[in-house]
Formats: sequence, C-alpha cells, structure tokens
Amino acid sequence: MDFSYTEEQIMFKESVRKFAEAEISPLIHQMETEKQTPRDLVRKMKEMGFYAVQYSEEYGGVGSSYIEYVIMMEEIARVYCSIAGHMGVSGMAAATIYNFGTEEQKMKYLPELLNGDAIGSFAFTEAATGSDAKAIRATAVRDGNDWVINGEKIFITNSTMPGYIALFCKDVEKDGKITNIIVPKDAKGYSTPKLVEKMGMHGMEVADVVLEDVRVPVENTTGGETMRGKGFQMLLAMTPLGKLSVCGQCVGMAQAALDAAVKYAKERVQRGEPIANFQSIQWIIGEMSTELAAARQMTLSTAYAKSVGKDITYDAARTRLFTSQVAHRAASNAMQVHGAFSYSTEFSVERIFRDAKLTEVYEGVNEIQRIIAASELLR
Ligand SMILES: Cc1cc2nc3c(=O)[nH]c(=O)nc-3n(C[C@H](O)[C@H](O)[C@H](O)COP(=O)(O)OP(=O)(O)OC[C@H]3O[C@@H](n4cnc5c(N)ncnc54)[C@H](O)[C@@H]3O)c2cc1C
Repeated sequence: MDFSYTEEQIMFKESVRKFAEAEISPLIHQMETEKQTPRDLVRKMKEMGFYAVQYSEEYGGVGSSYIEYVIMMEEIARVYCSIAGHMGVSGMAAATIYNFGTEEQKMKYLPELLNGDAIGSFAFTEAATGSDAKAIRATAVRDGNDWVINGEKIFITNSTMPGYIALFCKDVEKDGKITNIIVPKDAKGYSTPKLVEKMGMHGMEVADVVLEDVRVPVENTTGGETMRGKGFQMLLAMTPLGKLSVCGQCVGMAQAALDAAVKYAKERVQRGEPIANFQSIQWIIGEMSTELAAARQMTLSTAYAKSVGKDITYDAARTRLFTSQVAHRAASNAMQVHGAFSYSTEFSVERIFRDAKLTEVYEGVNEIQRIIAASELLR
C-alpha cells in the first residue's frame, strides 16, 4: 500500500501552509484580543476556495476529497486552530444540505456556502442538550406555509456571522421528533445576544442563539417533507464529518507544538549546552513525534474511508478520541520543554494548550467517542 501524498496533494498542502503563514499568522494577536473572525480573512479564504474543497463541482465545490480537506484543516490549525474550527463548522451546515437537502435546496444554498459568501452554523446544543441530543426543546410549529420556530441554542459557532444555520428542533406535529430546518441568520426573531467568553479558540465566534417566533417557509425543511422527524438520524450521520474536521485540527496543533518544542530545545541553553542534548528532552520529543505520526495516519485513513463512501461512524469516533488526546499531550509536553516561558503568552504553546482542550469536548465529548468505539464490538 502506498500511503504517500500525491504530487497535487503536496502542492495543495504547501499552498495552504503558505496562505496560513502569510495571511492568518499576522492576525493572531488581533484575533486573540478582539475575539472575532476577521471578515477580510473570510474574503481571502473564499478566494482560495477553502470553503468548497470537499464538495463536487456541480454545486460550486472544488471537487477534491476528504483527504485534501483534512490536509487543509491540519495546515490551518498548525498556524491558528480557531480558523480551522470556524471552517469546520461552516462545512457542517453545508454538509447537512449536501447530504440531505433536496435538489432545489442544494442549488439554492450550496453555491453561497461553498464560495464563502454565506457562513454556515450547525445548531443542536441547548442548555439541557449536549451529549443527550434527544433532549432538544426548541420547537418548530407549522403555520400555513411557514415554520414558526421558538427556543434557545447555546455554544453555536459562527452564529454571529451572516449566512445560514442548520437548526435542529422538535417538530411539534411529528410528536416532537427532531426536524432540521435551514434558517437564514438575518431572519426576523433570530438574535445572538451573548458571545460566549471562552478559554481559547478566540478567533472562532461562538454565541448563544435566541429564536423568537422566527418564520421561515416550509420549503426550508432540510430534505423536504420526507425528512421531517428524521433530524436525529441526520445528526448521527453528520457528526462523524465534524469529528473528521476536528481530527485534522488536532494533527495541526500537535505538529505546531512539536515544531515549537524542537525549535526551543535547540535554542535554550542550560549548563552550557542546548537542552536538546538532555535525554529527558529527547524522550519528550521522540514521544511527541511518534504520537503525531500515528494521529496523522489515523486521520488520513478515516478521511480516505469517507472519500470512498464508507460509513466512518466508528473510525471517526476512535480517531477523534486518539487525535484529541495526542493534541492535548503534545501541547502539554511542548509547554514542559519551554519551562517557565511556556506560561508566557509570548510563546505559542500556551495558546495551543488552551485551544487543544476544546477538541476533547466539542463535536461530542471523548467519553461518548469511547462509547461509540466500544459499541461496534459490544453489539
Ligand atoms: C467552543 C465551543 C463551540 C461549540 N460549537 C457548537 C456548535 O457550533 N453547535 C452545537 O450544536 N454545539 C456546539 N458546541 C457544544 C458542544 O458540542 C457540546 O458542548 C458538547 O457536545 C458536550 O455537551 P455538554 O457540554 O452538554 O456536555 P454534557 O453532555 O453535559 O457532558 C458533561 C460530561 O458528562 C459526561 N457524560 C455525558 N454524557 C455521558 C454519557 N452518555 N456517557 C458517559 N459520560 C457522559 C462526560 O464526561 C462529559 O464530559 C460547542 C461547544 C464549545 C465549547
């Protein structure tokens, strides 16, 4: 088996890296302080086609596969994970329409979402609903040719950015079963009163969403009438894609942590020699590089499985579990190599440590990933 990148993939990886270093890196300080996704950066990423990589050309996609998608996630997260997170979630809204939408919905929403003119959000979390997706309380009631939606969502990424939100709510007429509805974020009654004050991932906007008598046409039911009440199945099918994006983010952060540790170990002198000469530091770096190699291979293997149409429910759970742990350990180890300086915001490793923690939590906590992985064996 040949596991190497193709020439096109190497070129793509290099072009994303170049873009991230030239266009994202200089904005990190601004994003860390202003806690916003710069709209001008969105425009540049749109021009690069970043929102469209894994989608087919008929809807405005680039026509590449999920392998290129995780390569892109890795390279962006290597520089600044918030932007990869922002893109991953926008991609979840697009993927929901791409996989479940009617042909009319695909033609209507995907070109805008894939060219970055509209930013997507994916909303299921509520105050009582995190790991327990069935506990959703937001309601959708039919009134003539409209849906009337009421409720509150929390922790919704990109909800402050113009575009569409793939919203999960209880379909009152369908005995409260979950239905997904495409809601424009400028709809009357949609508001984001509170940005979440976060520990990290400051360049990714996350806010609570209030829906007060939001009216959208019934044509906005994702997948049309036949998909009403099937929101839970849609959620189960979509979360592996979100996890795959997070896996790419983990690999990127682990690589960034390793790069920073190697650089610092060669530069920092103690007892008259670089700390890289100490075996304790070599062990840390050796372990980091080993785990990173395994995390990258798992991510590429899961991305490949998705690209050839396999069900990745279990692989995505295992890969997300492992890669998030690798990113966490890599960030912690890189801090150890940096000693006291690791605790200073002058070095990137403290930010990577803060950002990496999220990967063990969002798109489903790691405990749930363990349960999914085990369920394949214990059925
Ligand atoms: C920065 C950020 C961005 C986010 N973006 C989005 C978004 O765009 N859209 C969206 O819908 N959501 C989003 N979320 C929400 C996120 O996906 C949920 O927070 C996550 O799924 C966990 O849910 P919870 O917080 O309710 O945890 P809970 O379900 O309350 O779990 C708490 C803990 O209880 C344990 N636990 C819970 N259930 C089980 C179980 N069945 N078995 C074993 N242990 C269990 C686990 O240890 C878990 O860590 C975001 C969250 C954050 C922090």
